[in-house]
Amino acid sequence: MSRGIHVDDSPEEVRLPRSVLHDLYEHARETDPEECCGLVVGTDGEPYRRVVRCRNDMTLKNEQSPEQWPMNNRSGFYMNPGDYQSWAEGESEDGEHVTAVYHSHVGVACYLSSVDLELVDLSQFPNAEQVVISVREGQLEARVFRRDGIGCPFVGHPVAVIP
Ligand SMILES: [Zn+2]
Repeated sequence: MSRGIHVDDSPEEVRLPRSVLHDLYEHARETDPEECCGLVVGTDGEPYRRVVRCRNDMTLKNEQSPEQWPMNNRSGFYMNPGDYQSWAEGESEDGEHVTAVYHSHVGVACYLSSVDLELVDLSQFPNAEQVVISVREGQLEARVFRRDGIGCPFVGHPVAVIP
């Protein structure tokens, strides 16, 4: 999405396991030039355990109702509800829950657009962290957006890798 809005930045790094960052980058690379989306799930002790891919239905929404959904998969993401519904119902038996929602940006930087923020508020995971992966000319980058408290504005953090 090309419309950026101001989100505060923090120099504090968020540490992601190498395997999780790898899977996020793989998904973004595979769907390029369209946006990918999905969930990062984990436990209290291991918050970023694994990546759960979701299908991006924005092009489908656009075909069904172009006035309501003017974007497509190249410019936005709309997670397939069937792909995340079981996670919206709460923790799994082994204590896994949604830690973050991710999506990619193609050809632009990692930020939360005004549309991204609107969709976060409408989503099933309004207080989850948001990970944005940027794919630009083959270069990948990720940034984590985290609220300081329930309903507080997002603050952007650089990502560091846990080897
Ligand atoms: Zn976005």
